[in-house]
Amino acid sequence: MAVKLYIEEQREKLIQLRRYFHMHPEVSMKEYHTAEKIEEELDKLQIPHQRVGETGVYGIIGKEKQGGKTIILRADIDALHIQDKKQVPYASQNPGVMHACGHDSHTAALLGAAAALKKEEASLNGTVRLFFQQGEEFGQGAKVFIKEGLHKGADRVFGVHVASNVPVGSVALSAGPVNASVDHFVIRVKGKSAHVSTPHLGVDALYIATQIVNALQGIVSRQTDPVDTVVVGIGVLRAGDAYNIVAGNAEIEGTTRCFTMESRNRTNQSIRDIAESIGRVYGAEVTLEFEDYASPLINDSAVCEEVKEVATQIVGAEHVVPKERSLGGDDFAEYLLTIPGTYAFVGTANPDKPDTIVPQHAENYDIDEDGILIAANLYVDYAKKVLE
Ligand SMILES: [Zn+2]
Ligand SMILES: [Zn+2]
Repeated sequence: MAVKLYIEEQREKLIQLRRYFHMHPEVSMKEYHTAEKIEEELDKLQIPHQRVGETGVYGIIGKEKQGGKTIILRADIDALHIQDKKQVPYASQNPGVMHACGHDSHTAALLGAAAALKKEEASLNGTVRLFFQQGEEFGQGAKVFIKEGLHKGADRVFGVHVASNVPVGSVALSAGPVNASVDHFVIRVKGKSAHVSTPHLGVDALYIATQIVNALQGIVSRQTDPVDTVVVGIGVLRAGDAYNIVAGNAEIEGTTRCFTMESRNRTNQSIRDIAESIGRVYGAEVTLEFEDYASPLINDSAVCEEVKEVATQIVGAEHVVPKERSLGGDDFAEYLLTIPGTYAFVGTANPDKPDTIVPQHAENYDIDEDGILIAANLYVDYAKKVLE
């Protein structure tokens, strides 16, 4: 890599840390050992810290000063229920669990940034809040930090995610919506069993559920502005117990993805209306349950410009590229609802290393570790810019 990074002095340390986390992954909200390791590293750096919920860690650098600013730097720390199939010495040692989204590298990068910023603590005009956040993969961790009020009064929030579809050495970022909202829904249809030879004596939950599944497709094709992007995805339909019995119960499970709060609210309300009214027509009882995993992730345009300047200094203007929108979600979005901020994507793809170009969540997912240094440098340089 042509880029000269002053975080370079920490290269060995950061790669070693990332590999440590990679070998010891823990799933969302169960990151106990990961949290202990982070605390151990913060102790070495003499950075005061506290637990947030059971497995989040909050650290602080600098002092509240008159006229000083406050910036939150966030890294997520959780792994996934995936079996690591890579043939590398640092492959996961925890069967069925893997850092397949790169959160191990975020954790290492933020620890590296913490070390660099701590050294310059005396000259910082304000405070850096370090958020080592649990439970991103199903959108529960940011809510814990927010519930504790740790985001309050911050002037900026900044986060980094590695990207397997961006070449290493590049940083991708764009103002506006970047990731979609994610809601999970379950629709339960309660009908009445009967023998299939007497359907009129039952209420066929299976038939009704298929009507609902079909009708929900109309939300995107008939009710949504074609230039808006909305997904109503259904991955599960369970119904019936026996081939000759009218199904008494059915269950539909799916997810919605939207780029604005308005379309999110409208889409979810339409799902309710359609499911309940179809149930009514056929005499079934329909209940719905929604779970909020993430809001749409919308980068602040002024902050995005500030981060672009910093990224340009690190990787050069030609390597600061626009971020393609993704219908995947990230609960970094929750911080952006109230604090101006930006989520930047750091490239980790290197065609010479085939495991680094597979999509995130793949069972052989890996990164070009130069990305960790760029991520750490971005955290440091942006924090310093805000706290000038
Ligand atoms: Zn992720
Ligand atoms: Zn992920």
